[in-house]
Amino acid sequence: MPQKNLPAFDAGFCLETFKRLISVDSTTGQYEEIQDLTCQILDELGYPYQILHKGGVIAEISPAEPASAQKDSGKAESGADCGAIAVTAHLDDIGLMVRHVNADGTLNVCPVGGLYPFYCVTENVRVHTHGGKVVTGTICRTPNSIHVTEEELRTALPDFRTNVCVVLDAPVKTAADTRALGVETGDMIALDPRFTYVNGYLKSRFIDDKACAAVLLALMKEMKEKGLAPARKTYMYFALYEEIGHGTTFLPSDVKDILAVDIAPTGPDQNSDEQKVSIFAKDSRFPYHHGMTRELQDTAISAGIDYVMDIFTPHYGTDADGSILAGYDIRHAAIGPGTANSHGYERTHMDGLKNTYELLAAYLL
Ligand SMILES: [Zn+2]
Repeated sequence: MPQKNLPAFDAGFCLETFKRLISVDSTTGQYEEIQDLTCQILDELGYPYQILHKGGVIAEISPAEPASAQKDSGKAESGADCGAIAVTAHLDDIGLMVRHVNADGTLNVCPVGGLYPFYCVTENVRVHTHGGKVVTGTICRTPNSIHVTEEELRTALPDFRTNVCVVLDAPVKTAADTRALGVETGDMIALDPRFTYVNGYLKSRFIDDKACAAVLLALMKEMKEKGLAPARKTYMYFALYEEIGHGTTFLPSDVKDILAVDIAPTGPDQNSDEQKVSIFAKDSRFPYHHGMTRELQDTAISAGIDYVMDIFTPHYGTDADGSILAGYDIRHAAIGPGTANSHGYERTHMDGLKNTYELLAAYLL
């Protein structure tokens, strides 16, 4: 049973916000449109924010006045002493870039972030040209039709360098035809977010990390509506470079702790569960800060939140790691909803988002 003073989780708002966020293509590096949308949502919610020169949005939430500090949590006093906390979720997505235009008018592509060919062949895409045009297409195997492909080619693993390309939805036969559409080396290619929602399950390519960003915004909405203030100054940091490792390598000078809210990949050796929130003990880089992680665990236990502890190896790290490696003397921790098929066709559950929301609310308020 969650604490009765936790703000309610507005699942409808969270879902609608997630749908707004995935409606915008934001392959890492192509940040302008998602940044504008984030600012628009923050304006609607009524929060001040700063925009980073490289791309990124940091909203600011003032702490409760000492006089009206949270009576029961006992956190306001200690929180006042320990500086500001940054809570981050990222709004960049993995995707592709045009490496070169092939002689037959198809596109040779390379990944932006950790996108693997076996997890994206057959996906529809949108190529964003220098001139601002969008040309659609599909990620295909070469050769593409199974019926006319020799056996040894059928069993070869897909590889962006040799046997995977993007075929445009245009009658192009030569490189010149494709260039005439404005497509050129360096153009960003976004994958179709392919959203569905059924029985509480959210499926999309970009649960990571737009679902967690929607959780942060849902909490901000509830706090604004109910007049709730955090125990300490809180930055809600919408980072735009997590997938390539430097989303939160800049921090405001008064930040003492960073909490990343990001997907908790499920797997055969994982505790993570799509209906729960995971507290990260360690990822493939190093353990999370022991004290801060224990605080989150204590918070989850006392608030009755359905959580698990988990460790993510060998291929995972969050933006909180990036802040530590940037040289800040801060504590770092991470939490997030259990998420299946990470960096593929991802799936989580509304209960996992709710548990993430409640842990975040219980820790901050
Ligand atoms: Zn992520």
